[in-house]
Amino acid sequence: MTLLSVRNLRKHFPVRKGVLARVVAQVKAVDDVSFDIAPGETLGLVGESGCGKTTAGRSLLRLIEPTSGEVRFRGEDVRAASGSKLRSLRRHMQIIFQDPYASLNPRMSVADIVGEGLRVHGLVKGRRELEDAVRDLLLKVRLDPAYVNRYPHEFSGGQRQRIGIARALSLRPDFIVCDEAVSALDVSIQAQIINLLMDLRDEFGMAYLFVAHDLSVVRHISHRVAVMYLGKIVESAPTAELFAEPKHPYTQALLSAVPRADPTRRAERVLLEGDVPSPLRPPPGCAFHTRCPVAMAHCRTEVPPERRVSDGHTYMCHLEPHEAPGGRSTG
Ligand code: SF4
Repeated sequence: MTLLSVRNLRKHFPVRKGVLARVVAQVKAVDDVSFDIAPGETLGLVGESGCGKTTAGRSLLRLIEPTSGEVRFRGEDVRAASGSKLRSLRRHMQIIFQDPYASLNPRMSVADIVGEGLRVHGLVKGRRELEDAVRDLLLKVRLDPAYVNRYPHEFSGGQRQRIGIARALSLRPDFIVCDEAVSALDVSIQAQIINLLMDLRDEFGMAYLFVAHDLSVVRHISHRVAVMYLGKIVESAPTAELFAEPKHPYTQALLSAVPRADPTRRAERVLLEGDVPSPLRPPPGCAFHTRCPVAMAHCRTEVPPERRVSDGHTYMCHLEPHEAPGGRSTG
């Protein structure tokens, strides 16, 4: 069963120049991305900054309007929805933002921030009912319900992110985009927030799109992982399989930087040369060829095919599965 179905999603930003603001180029931030998410499932979406993962996540909720492609949520066409239909869809599709300092209005109390959706959708009557509902939500995210009338500046980064989670949770969504939701937090706080999100998923059966630049962050929470590079998904697999048998050289490079539980089983660190090329002028052929340690001549001119390793494990590369340089076992 599919909760969210994304097909051929594209988001191209026009680049304008001159007094007439003529369009001179397109930045292909998201370029032909497809995936499905089942109810209660978590898909980790990973890649370096600028790869398009945040734009992809926000396009699903139409916080950024996609250029083309199809997004279906519970069978409903999200891109065609407007007015009350769109509001009703958004009630079930929420987002937690990266920056817990910027995403909470400093002039609003916790009750107003967390309870805003409840009030807008007419789910509470009066102030007392709103505050009671917010106290319940604070308990769910393991914050003291007595904080209900405090303001964001009175909280730490981790506590603010819990407030953001309570806000996302308030309308009992089926799906939440976690947009680099733990990236700005200390490592120990990251683990607490990830554990909280997993517990809430178990309790409420929500699905997540968990966007992050660090593979080690998505490992424990994700059932499947998709790796993005320059606007495209270059590899997608069930989490354990991706970590044990990565096929795309880019995934292998990202994985080689992830610390292992057993330090005696060292993986060769693959150092990627240079930065991610500009999405304004992506390299021809395989867009990764300028940094790929095993690039071949035809990688510079021919777009690689999508290859299938097993059910749910695909990657885009000219190398066949048996030719892909060494995988690694989980450690
Ligand atoms: Fe490397 Fe070529 Fe595969 Fe691209 S297609 S990842 S350049 S081997």
